[in-house]
Amino acid sequence: MLMGDSASFLNSQRLKGIHLAIKSGMLAAETAFESMLVGDQSSGALGAYQSRVEGSWIKEELYPVRNFHQGFENGLLGGLVHSGIQQVLGGRNIGPDYENHAGYRNMHMLDAIGRSTYGREATLGPAKSDGKVTFDKLTDVYHSGTRHDDDQPVHLVIRDTNICNHRCVQEYGNPCQHFCPAAVYEMVDGQIHINFANCVHCKTCDIMDPYQVITWVPPEGGGGPNYDGM
Ligand code: SF4
Repeated sequence: MLMGDSASFLNSQRLKGIHLAIKSGMLAAETAFESMLVGDQSSGALGAYQSRVEGSWIKEELYPVRNFHQGFENGLLGGLVHSGIQQVLGGRNIGPDYENHAGYRNMHMLDAIGRSTYGREATLGPAKSDGKVTFDKLTDVYHSGTRHDDDQPVHLVIRDTNICNHRCVQEYGNPCQHFCPAAVYEMVDGQIHINFANCVHCKTCDIMDPYQVITWVPPEGGGGPNYDGM
């Protein structure tokens, strides 16, 4: 039984999902309890979970926004038009519903976008932080209260660092350095470095790495962000 974020139970229009995680967890627990009472844990018995979800307000809330996020795939203006049409049509597109695809498939190679226009600074200008409302990445990590034991195994596993050091440099420009919000990945003298102690566990790298060689695994000892000062 998949629940919460693992089942994509996120209302992308409202950017909320905790209530959906709690509700789906409750429905899964009820289903598991019933299956234990009758001693049947087959997929048939646990399949009642799907009917429970579909009969609950989870479906009522998510079905009308099923195309919302994908509508913005080609930019803000197109997304606004799409979402307006979906509002009128009860979540439908003019055409068929969008198919799901992994986010990293939207990554473009440097050659396709032009090397001179690559990178955040080339498109948005140098990032500025005022130190009051907006902060640089490392200050944000400090504010998140992230802690890991320094001597624990690295919990970000890169299957083949040769891809990072040679192929990705040329093809994608090591985008992990930019999309990681915690400055975990750094290219130092042409080699990928993993500052794993900074990781705030957002899993962006696992999802967006264009070669799918990065795997986030739970860190030893329950380390991670605490957000205790926020
Ligand atoms: Fe960075 Fe998030 Fe990956 Fe951690 S999980 S390394 S914070 S992108």
